[in-house]
Amino acid sequence: MTKSAIPDRAKIVIIGGGVGGTSVAYHLAELGEKDVILLDRSDLTSGSTFHSAGLVGQLRADPTLTKMNMHSVDLYRKLEASDTPPSWKECGSIKLASTPERMEEIRRQIGWARTFGLDLKEISPKEAQDLFPLMDLDGVVGACYMASDGQVDPSQLAQALASGARRGGVRIFTHTRVLGITTKGGRVTHVQTDKGTIECEIVVNCGGMFAAELGRMVDVRIPIVPMSHQYLITENFLPAGAPYLPSLRDPDLLIYFRQEVSGLLMGGYERNSRAWTADYDHLDDIPADFNGRLLPEEWDRFEEIAENSQKRVPKMGEVGVKNFINGPEGFTPDNEFCLGETSVGGFYVAAGFCAHGIAGAGGIGKVVAEWIVAGEPTMDLWHMDIRRFGEAYKSPKFTLERVTENYEEYYDIHYPGEERKSARPLKKSPVYEWHKAHSAVFGEKASWERVNFYSENVSNDEFSPYGWAGKHWSSAVRAEHLATRESAGLFDESSFAKISVKGEKAASFLNFVCANDVVKGVGRTVYTQALNSRGGIESDYTVTQVSEQEFMIVTGTAFLNHDMGWLEKIRREHDFDVSISDITSSLACFGIWGPRARDILQAITTYDLSHANFPFMHSREIVIAGATIRATRITYVGELGWEVYIPIAKAEAVWQELIDAGQKFGMKVCGYRAIESLRLEKGYRAWGVEISTETNPFEAGLEFAIALKKESFIGKDALLKVKENPRRKLVPILFDDIKQVPLGNEPIRVGNDIIGRVKSGGQGYTINKAIAYAYVPIAHSAIGTKVDVEFFGNWRSGVVAAEPLFDPTSSRIRL
Ligand SMILES: Cc1cc2nc3c(=O)[nH]c(=O)nc-3n(C[C@H](O)[C@H](O)[C@H](O)COP(=O)(O)OP(=O)(O)OC[C@H]3O[C@@H](n4cnc5c(N)ncnc54)[C@H](O)[C@@H]3O)c2cc1C
Repeated sequence: MTKSAIPDRAKIVIIGGGVGGTSVAYHLAELGEKDVILLDRSDLTSGSTFHSAGLVGQLRADPTLTKMNMHSVDLYRKLEASDTPPSWKECGSIKLASTPERMEEIRRQIGWARTFGLDLKEISPKEAQDLFPLMDLDGVVGACYMASDGQVDPSQLAQALASGARRGGVRIFTHTRVLGITTKGGRVTHVQTDKGTIECEIVVNCGGMFAAELGRMVDVRIPIVPMSHQYLITENFLPAGAPYLPSLRDPDLLIYFRQEVSGLLMGGYERNSRAWTADYDHLDDIPADFNGRLLPEEWDRFEEIAENSQKRVPKMGEVGVKNFINGPEGFTPDNEFCLGETSVGGFYVAAGFCAHGIAGAGGIGKVVAEWIVAGEPTMDLWHMDIRRFGEAYKSPKFTLERVTENYEEYYDIHYPGEERKSARPLKKSPVYEWHKAHSAVFGEKASWERVNFYSENVSNDEFSPYGWAGKHWSSAVRAEHLATRESAGLFDESSFAKISVKGEKAASFLNFVCANDVVKGVGRTVYTQALNSRGGIESDYTVTQVSEQEFMIVTGTAFLNHDMGWLEKIRREHDFDVSISDITSSLACFGIWGPRARDILQAITTYDLSHANFPFMHSREIVIAGATIRATRITYVGELGWEVYIPIAKAEAVWQELIDAGQKFGMKVCGYRAIESLRLEKGYRAWGVEISTETNPFEAGLEFAIALKKESFIGKDALLKVKENPRRKLVPILFDDIKQVPLGNEPIRVGNDIIGRVKSGGQGYTINKAIAYAYVPIAHSAIGTKVDVEFFGNWRSGVVAAEPLFDPTSSRIRL
């Protein structure tokens, strides 16, 4: 512990001395940052860290998180060999399947573990019992085992990381409470503590469950709720000299175990969870003296877990309990971490570790330190990026409902296409009631209710996919897809995020941010990516020039915060005098696409919609139903058509006119699932799915959207380098059997070599095939290459196909 007075200046100030803060400090030191200090209001590890169970598992549903956890294991091994070992025990882990569905999940996980080189293997119930002899096999269907998983002492881990950080020059000040943070021009400038004020450039909020409180100091909402989390430790009873037990998870029974000295530690996720301060007005207020403390035992809520533990390990009913731990831990609304730079420049967060912060700490420290040094994420961290949380999460009630749902369903199997149940409906389209009255089946995206499909379009299950892909499948999607290809489809896309960029410098600003030339004149629309300095795709959207000094960006429903955050950051860091505002809720958006789209739209407007007068990628103001609206000739489904942007007050009237006009042309009203199938067939990329900060436009097949002739734009230099040396390519892989639908993450092999993993998959109802998209090495990217893809333990043949899979000359669009 450093006793000297705190300095009045440091480049980087880390708040919080749990595993999160100490790991960020350790990795910043490793990256050569010399001017870093870490503050904690009490002792190191006195937040959630000291009472953690310390299990370290590596395989997660998210590929990035898996890589991060693998880094954690490498690091803990390394630290174990240092002079501050964290008691890392590479004891292995077993996961049991007590249902056939869980066994399917395990087989799927074994497949994607293979793509990481992880040693996850299927074992029989008997083999599981041999490894964990205390186990009763009643109801066990199967299991898997990973030898390189382990356990660590959480407090010793934080101390080991702190020692490493100190050796690298980080100064650590405990019993130093942060009281406030000052900003100027949208950036952090000072941190106020009870020991003095520190001028700084960067603040890293590693406050764990206290992170929301720290965020309020700069008016940044961090949706983390402290949840009570419990486990118990038995008396010692294991025979001396017995082999060390692997950790054991039985998710169907909601429980986990690990060896603790010569007893067991057992915990789980209760079905009746409890936020610690479940008061909607003060959800995340934590008492000022809550350090090194626990919550009162709540045996009643733990009863189901305790009973289940005895079913799986009968000895649990015989041995005494030495210790019962109820400790609060910061949970997020989707069980993923909260990482990265917030809307305030230089104010980073690394918190909300949802009871897997010990497993994640090594990786978290690495990616956050890299993010700070590079000023942008160095991996695809979208699922953990603080910017994924939109405005809805400012509501404590909404946040708590989402956190609760997640906590209580933590161990459930989540099938693709599953929808959130809590806190719905929240944001609604102006024609929501119409949808409801017309058999809409809704999904939710970024708190918007959106139509997935209409049940009145359901026919028969002839095309229902095998296995998991069929769980939430509907034949209505095929009907809507085909109607769009054959006549027309009308889509409500009002949830699209819309951003206005205005000012004298708006054009030069956007041409600096975007890789394409987006300044083609008033009334022109351009599809573009915004790149990071490594040439990775930071955002993907369309830009329409509305007037000389005003542009409208349209981006995905879930990307408002993220994309606006990136624009704001570039504006701030490069001093552009432009205003950037969210105009999402002022405009509805409907898409009308298909061979009859022009006939339908022309029937309700006097504006000449002919190709000569209204070409592709042009945008005009036209009048429908007495309302002046913006029509943009663009498509995300590969058909002729328009997106129309309508002032909210006029949206219902315009919708009804479209419905009425479409009737005689056989138009169907369609949902988002049909868009997904249509766009996959046409090869249109989706950010966060096929493209991300880790992929560049060359490998993603998007070079047509790069204007290398522009003098400069962010990422240009890096792009020029990758252009010369492409490593991999995004390709479509086709399966003749349309029911064999890939879900994502399945391994792909050629011969015996694993060459990649599936990024996205779906059904192409026009081409009548199942489709996967994947990045594969250039050597395996040739059209006609035969590959195998593993579906739940079974290999199926597919073939790399030419793009686009549908209408290669775009003859259906440009007419
Ligand atoms: C019962 C339980 C079991 C768990 N089991 C596991 C497990 O098996 N495996 C696993 O991977 N994870 C597990 N976890 C989760 C893991 O313990 C946490 O994710 C992790 O410890 C969180 O670390 P942190 O650094 O984010 O937060 P913390 O350890 O809470 O650190 C935050 C620090 O910030 C400091 N701070 C807050 N406000 C201020 C301020 N104003 N000024 C200065 N300092 C401030 C606090 O004093 C605190 O020390 C478990 C958690 C619980 C509760």
